[in-house]
Amino acid sequence: MIITDTHTHLYSDAFDEDRDAMMQRAIAANIERFFIPAIDSSYTEAMFQLEKAYPENVYLMMGLHPTSVKDNYKEELKHIETLFKQRSFVAVGEIGIDLYWDTSTLQIQQDAFRQQIHLAKHYNLPIVIHCRDAFDEIFEILEEEKDEKLFGIFHCFTGTLEQAKRAISYNMKLGIGGVVTFKNGGIDKFINQIDLKHIVLETDAPYLSPTPYRGKRNESSYIINVLDKLSELYNLPKGDIAKITTDNSIGVFKI
Ligand SMILES: [Zn+2]
Repeated sequence: MIITDTHTHLYSDAFDEDRDAMMQRAIAANIERFFIPAIDSSYTEAMFQLEKAYPENVYLMMGLHPTSVKDNYKEELKHIETLFKQRSFVAVGEIGIDLYWDTSTLQIQQDAFRQQIHLAKHYNLPIVIHCRDAFDEIFEILEEEKDEKLFGIFHCFTGTLEQAKRAISYNMKLGIGGVVTFKNGGIDKFINQIDLKHIVLETDAPYLSPTPYRGKRNESSYIINVLDKLSELYNLPKGDIAKITTDNSIGVFKI
């Protein structure tokens, strides 16, 4: 059984004290593939170091996170474009719109999101979407951009059944993580109405720990708790869920 964590910030300084032990715990639990979303240029070096330390297990994305879209975002986008000319990444991510932390930057967030979708299309890569309090704004842009080159993952999906279907209609997989284990998370009520072929697993470590670790630092080995929950909700063996979701991740990232 191979389990894939499609969204985990393993370069975060939350892991500086025990990164090796944390990685070994995950690998020992069959979580062997880690897809690493970017945030902004301040983390680029740490991402490259992580890749160097775990070349067999770690796959890097590159992109500008919506909460890092500030006055200097054009420079940040330049940094990303330069890196794409120098080397390959598995996706453009994480990108999108976040209106929870700051609504004043909506316009530049929309611009950065569009530009990065174009970058992904240019390199035939998937996008990994971060959406917080912004479903309408995200869907508006996906509606403009939808074509055979648009595909990817709607990371940390927390919407309704209707929003899930709409995300899938734009060629997006749904990234399911700790929220599915929460008492009031909501998605546990309907997720089994979504065909598993549209689902990938993620932790978003060090954030969003699943029950029973809620509120504590998250790590990739806790993806087991997400797997357990989906196994219960879909009434399927864990091995089947792990295989289907890993296959789905290979379909998206082509690796
Ligand atoms: Zn993230």
